[in-house]
This record gives sequence, structure tokens and C-alpha cells, in this order.
Amino acid sequence: MIAEILSVGTELLMGQIVNTDARYLAARLSEAGITLHRQSTVGDNPVRLAEAIETALSRADIVITTGGLGPTADDITKEMSAQSLGLPMRRSEEAENMVRGWFEKHGHAMTDNNLRQADFPEGSRILRNDFGTAPGCIMEKDGKAIINLPGPPREIIPMFDACVMPYLTERGGCLIRSRYLRIFGMGESTVESLTGDLMREGENPTLAPYCSLGEVQLRLTVRCQSPEEAPPLLDPLEKEIRRRVGDVIYAVTDDPGYTMERAVAEALLAAGKTVATAESCTGGMIASRLVSVPGISDAFLEGYVTYANAAKERVLGVDPRTLARFGAVSEETALAMAEGLRRRSGADICLSVTGIAGPEGGTKEKPVGLVWLGLCTGKGAEARRLSLFGDRDRIRTLASLHGLHWILCAAREQGTGERQGDPHPSPPA
Ligand code: ATP
Repeated sequence: MIAEILSVGTELLMGQIVNTDARYLAARLSEAGITLHRQSTVGDNPVRLAEAIETALSRADIVITTGGLGPTADDITKEMSAQSLGLPMRRSEEAENMVRGWFEKHGHAMTDNNLRQADFPEGSRILRNDFGTAPGCIMEKDGKAIINLPGPPREIIPMFDACVMPYLTERGGCLIRSRYLRIFGMGESTVESLTGDLMREGENPTLAPYCSLGEVQLRLTVRCQSPEEAPPLLDPLEKEIRRRVGDVIYAVTDDPGYTMERAVAEALLAAGKTVATAESCTGGMIASRLVSVPGISDAFLEGYVTYANAAKERVLGVDPRTLARFGAVSEETALAMAEGLRRRSGADICLSVTGIAGPEGGTKEKPVGLVWLGLCTGKGAEARRLSLFGDRDRIRTLASLHGLHWILCAAREQGTGERQGDPHPSPPA
């Protein structure tokens, strides 16, 4: 089966937004075993859009469009798709209920033009949009299919995963199953040098890396006929990867959007342990990431942003002499912050962070990127030095990630009584 992606939007053509939808779809199509021959981008012009759809349809079995499903006059993707397949547009009761339901649920008044989003090519399959007003659709004729998806990434990704992937695998006659190994503490190039042959040689399952700041995710994907066939194919590959990379894998999941904070929350809740944070240079990023996980209220007690020295003294009881002698960014201050936090909160795991995020404020002895983390538990306090580089955002994000990972290791250790992984991984490059 051959597919083409057609991205619709003048904003894309003008370089105002980056086409992340196409990147996502391309990766997912390859997982589904569907050959992608072309990706193209066209603006919101009806003549050029119709031409682009017809050309794509003449070459491919499936054309997937993104964008242009909204309520305004320049949202014409559905109409042009219908025209190219010779299908009339009809108001869909099912889609109308979805659109009305969305407005009711979110307490917004609906204007009449929103009902344009309930008009679909006759006979098309409506795709529910849980994160926006515009449903998508799949229309078929003479063995060809056009799939219209919305533009916003937070809408298209769940819609693709929930509705389109099953359709494609059904059409392709096989199932696709993916497993994700999340890695922290080993840089992308090291992971690649250890597993590159598996990435190049694997056919079923396949192995592919995805890197984000500070983390690497390995995706193991298998094509099979039934769900039961997947684990026996994926397990040996996972075992081999583990043998090669060691204990830097902090999570194995089937959710591509799994995060470090979710792993932390799950570990804390499983162990029945509580956590508190005292942050300086990260300014609450660690607390914010923890709080983004539903259910964390059973584990997260409190978090402080103690930025000024006076706040570190007043809130955490850090001795002013420690600050004067060693400085705010020092092992001693990180330890004192974590210990003060534990006295104050009584949490099982207390994490502190203090560092120089830059761009100013660095010295030869204490350069920009120097970060100290402190961790205080029932067993006492420890500190850890990080030497990070990059701009302010990068340093703060990486410091948060290291902090979260240390909480993760401590929570797992408290849950099992065993030291988990390496709590002091070398910072990713
Ligand atoms: P809406 O209901 O929001 O109008 P839509 O399906 O009509 O959705 P567009 O109007 O084309 O989609 O795009 C809405 C927004 O979605 C864009 O402003 C952009 O932020 C994002 N977007 C659109 N296409 C892409 C793309 N290919 N990659 C990444 N983001 C995109």
C-alpha cells in the first residue's frame, strides 16, 4: 500500500510553523508497513489544493491530509477531497453531535459556522476529535482512500493513534505493536554506537531511536497477525538491548508519550513514599512536572522556590554562614537545603537544586552550568554535582530531569530496599 501526505496550510508554506505533523505521520506509517512515496505542502488555495489532492490520488492508494478542517472559509480540505473523489458533502448527525458536545463540555458558545465542521463527504467514516472541535474523516472510493486529519498536533496525534492506525493495520492485513525503552544517563551517540547494528539490520521487529533533551527513547516495533505474537518477538530484542546498554533504561512502556515525571509518580505511589522539593535555579520546574501527573497528590507534599539567599535561610533554615562561606551554589548549600526541607516537610524524599543557569553569573571556579542537587532521606543527605552546558533553558531543563531521576532512583530504592540503577549517571551531552 502506497501513501502520500499532503500538508495543507499557508502558514506551513510561509515557514511560520514547522511541519511536525508530517514527521509524526511519516514515522507512524513506516511502523504500519505502509510505503510513503511523497510528502507535499500546499496553501489554503482551492484550485491548488484540489490539484494537489488529485495528483496525490493518482499516484497513491491512501492520501492523508493535515489541516484545514476548521470552521472558517479558508478551511476547505474536506470539500476539495470530496470533490476529487466525486462525493457530495452532507451534514453528518454523528459529527454534529460531536461538535455540539465539544462546545457543551467546554462551556463555550457555539457559532453557526462551527457546524461546517459537521459537513462530510457522503459515506465517510467520522473520526472523533477529543482535543478540538473538528472531527476528521476517512473517505473511500474505488479502492482509494483519503484521510482528512486536523492540523494541531495535540489533536492529530491522538486521532491518528486511536482511529487511523487501526484502520491502516486492518487494510494492511497486520497488527503493529510498539514497545518504548526510555533511557536516561546515556547520550544519543553512545546508545547508537551500542545498538546501531540492531537498528540497521532488524526487519521484524525494527528498532528506532528518538532523542529529546537529556533522554533517548528506543522504539521496538513488530508487525504481527495477533496481539499474542508480539511479546515473543519483542522480548528477545529488549533483552539484547538491556545487555548492551545496562541499567540506564528507566522505563519500558507501550505509551510513546511516557515521561520521567510519570515514572517518578508511579514509583512513589507504588512505594507509598512522599516527596518534597526546594528549587533555586529550576524555579519550580521539578514541582511543576511532578504536579502534571494525575494522582501525584498522594505523594507530593510541598515544593518551594527558594531563589534568594534570604529565602533559603528563612524557608529552609540554611545557615547564613554556610551561604557566606561556600556560596549559594555549593555542595554544602545543596545539602543544607535538602536537610532543611526534610525538617520542614517530613517527606520521605527531599530534593534540592541550586545552580548557575546563566548566561551571566559564572566564574572560573563556578562556571555557568554548575548545578548541585541535594537529596535527603531517612538514611541521611547526599549531594551531587552536575556540569551542564547550553543556554539557560537547556541547563534548567536538564537540571530538572536529573533531579527527577534522582527522586525516581530513591523512590524505587525505598520501595524495594535495593539500590536502583545509577543515581549518578554521567550527564547526557
Ligand atoms: P482548527 O480547528 O484549529 O482550525 P485545522 O484542522 O483547520 O484546525 P489549521 O487551521 O490548518 O488546522 O491549523 C491550525 C493550527 O495547527 C496551526 O496554526 C498550527 O499551529 C497547527 N498546525 C497545522 N498544521 C500543522 C502541521 N503540519 N504541523 C504542525 N502544526 C500544524
